[in-house]
Amino acid sequence: METEVLWRAVEARDARFDGAFVFGVNTTGIFCRPSCSARKPKRENVLFFNETAEAEACGYRSCLRCRPTHAASADPQVMMAVEACREIEEMPEATLDELAGTAGLSTYHFQRTFKEIVGLSPKKYSEAIKMERFKEGIRDGSDVVTAMYEAGYGSSSRLYEKAAQNLGMTPAIYKKGGKGMNINYIITDCELGKLLVARTPRGICSVTFGDGDKELREGLDREFPNAEIAENDHDLKTAVDAIIKYLAGKNKRLVLPLDLQATAFQMQVWDFLRKIPYGETRSYSEVAEEMGDKKKVRAVASACAKNRVALLIPCHRVIASDGKLSGYRWGIERKKKLLAAEAG
Ligand SMILES: [Zn+2]
Repeated sequence: METEVLWRAVEARDARFDGAFVFGVNTTGIFCRPSCSARKPKRENVLFFNETAEAEACGYRSCLRCRPTHAASADPQVMMAVEACREIEEMPEATLDELAGTAGLSTYHFQRTFKEIVGLSPKKYSEAIKMERFKEGIRDGSDVVTAMYEAGYGSSSRLYEKAAQNLGMTPAIYKKGGKGMNINYIITDCELGKLLVARTPRGICSVTFGDGDKELREGLDREFPNAEIAENDHDLKTAVDAIIKYLAGKNKRLVLPLDLQATAFQMQVWDFLRKIPYGETRSYSEVAEEMGDKKKVRAVASACAKNRVALLIPCHRVIASDGKLSGYRWGIERKKKLLAAEAG
């Protein structure tokens, strides 16, 4: 992303960036300062370097026209903006005050200068970074919650909604009962009775426990009444193995690609549940409080009850404030066994 800002400077031949970086052109083997008047290279042939020495170390020769090694040091405001871009990339959740503090400027002055040089406000820049990372995460096979978390979204529902929209994953899709979704599933025996694991091409969409095959299949049909559902183990072996190992206590980290549609609030709760460490529990009110609104205890409990992927989103680690196990979608006995196993 930062490179987009640098490329804009090259396109604009912006002399304020001279001294802030140089760019090498791999078709000519020459490196230039941003304002060089030579013919503009194609974007795909350009590499950026912070220092002229780096460009030289990579085998590029200094341009005779713009003489990048002789550039004066860059405009301090440009350097400030480039450094702020780096800071945002390292910490997309940094606040405007923090960024302005690092730059040694007032918030107002920082924001204005940043926008003038980068072309985007710090906030927009940070959003662009997060969205780019989120998409990368999804492309690399992360599930939505993990990708959001790792992109720096934390659990902001507004940003989630934006991200979900970008992916075409809105709660509305789910409301249609999985219309257009292709789901395959298998049912197997496990320590807690029968286990059903189902997935779409994108990730796991259902993990449930029951006492019989029929009950589990009917549950899946109810959850996705309009989906194409077939019983086969296509792409399910890894997931089932991981779950079985987890149930046997041989695997404490259960991370698999998920395909979940949910409201922003449910997503936030589920995201939070995934951060409760193995072997620990939280009460519903603790979850609500840590998520920033202790009045939402019932909404938290309801989101836990709506979890469709047992274990992968460890709703069993949430208990009543008095320490009682409270409810579990797949039966209190199973919750008891899970927590006992995790306690070792
Ligand atoms: Zn040049």
